[in-house]
Amino acid sequence: MILNDRYVVIGNPIAHSKSPQIHARFAEQTSQSLQYERLLAPLDAFDQTVKSFVATGGRGANVTVPFKLDAFRAATQLSARARAAEAVNTLRFDAGEIFGDNTDGVGLVRDIVNNAKFTISGKTVLLLGAGGAARGVIQALLAESPSQLVIANRTPERASVLVEQFAHEAKGVLQASSYADLKSNFDLIINATSASLASELPSVPPSIFSSQSFVYDMMYSSHPTLFMQLATSHGAITRDGLGMLVEQAAESFFVWRGVRPETASVYQWLRTQL
Ligand code: NDP
Repeated sequence: MILNDRYVVIGNPIAHSKSPQIHARFAEQTSQSLQYERLLAPLDAFDQTVKSFVATGGRGANVTVPFKLDAFRAATQLSARARAAEAVNTLRFDAGEIFGDNTDGVGLVRDIVNNAKFTISGKTVLLLGAGGAARGVIQALLAESPSQLVIANRTPERASVLVEQFAHEAKGVLQASSYADLKSNFDLIINATSASLASELPSVPPSIFSSQSFVYDMMYSSHPTLFMQLATSHGAITRDGLGMLVEQAAESFFVWRGVRPETASVYQWLRTQL
């Protein structure tokens, strides 16, 4: 019996994950023979879950909330971008080694620059949040040469820690802020908080928005998130994180299979499924 190469997305909870549908379409489109499923890991047993999956022939995994730091620690080899982020969302199992990568940053930047056609170079950027998602995208944002990247978080100390961590890559463009200290408006505002998941708003001053702002919420849903609605009320253009989801998945697929799937049709199809 010929078995397909096996991949999973590991998280807790995991039932909501759209990754199996995305990767099934990528596989079909590129004629890759693989199977991709959801895998629920107990909160205290990420390593054991990975080991069991590898023992039964697993070839790779995506990793989602709350295990991206566990995946970083479990990896025996790391890509430069995973090492910078200190978080891993993609694992590849190669002959006894566990290769860890992070495709969130490239996914976000490709969606903003290639799909939404917004140029980050020379622009002022505000990143809201200092959790796993924020940490995963800082290096990729800096690589686009913004004139300024301000990280602001509800707990400001966590933003300061991230700024210290990435300061050596930033050549003076990176700053930390509390929400209350945000005074000017920004060209690009990225909501990397989980506030939208709880139908809440980060308590940012309205002065961050202008009618020239492009506002990106990493959360996605069938309707504009509360944060997108707020930005729209200030005249800003908005986009949700569905494109990032598809682009980070495409990069993971490339890490595993060495083939780059086409993303636009998968994004359009997924939008109809929300
Ligand atoms: P974490 O739990 O690691 O971090 C949560 C962050 O949100 C923290 O900075 C926290 O602030 C902040 N936060 C939570 N609630 C509020 C609130 N009510 N007001 C202000 N700030 C708040 O989550 P992740 O970083 O992993 O995920 C963040 C979001 O990004 C999620 O919505 C997730 O779905 C999305 N995401 C989307 C992806 C995509 O492909 N589209 C990929 C990855 C993530 P504090 O430090 O003060 O607690």
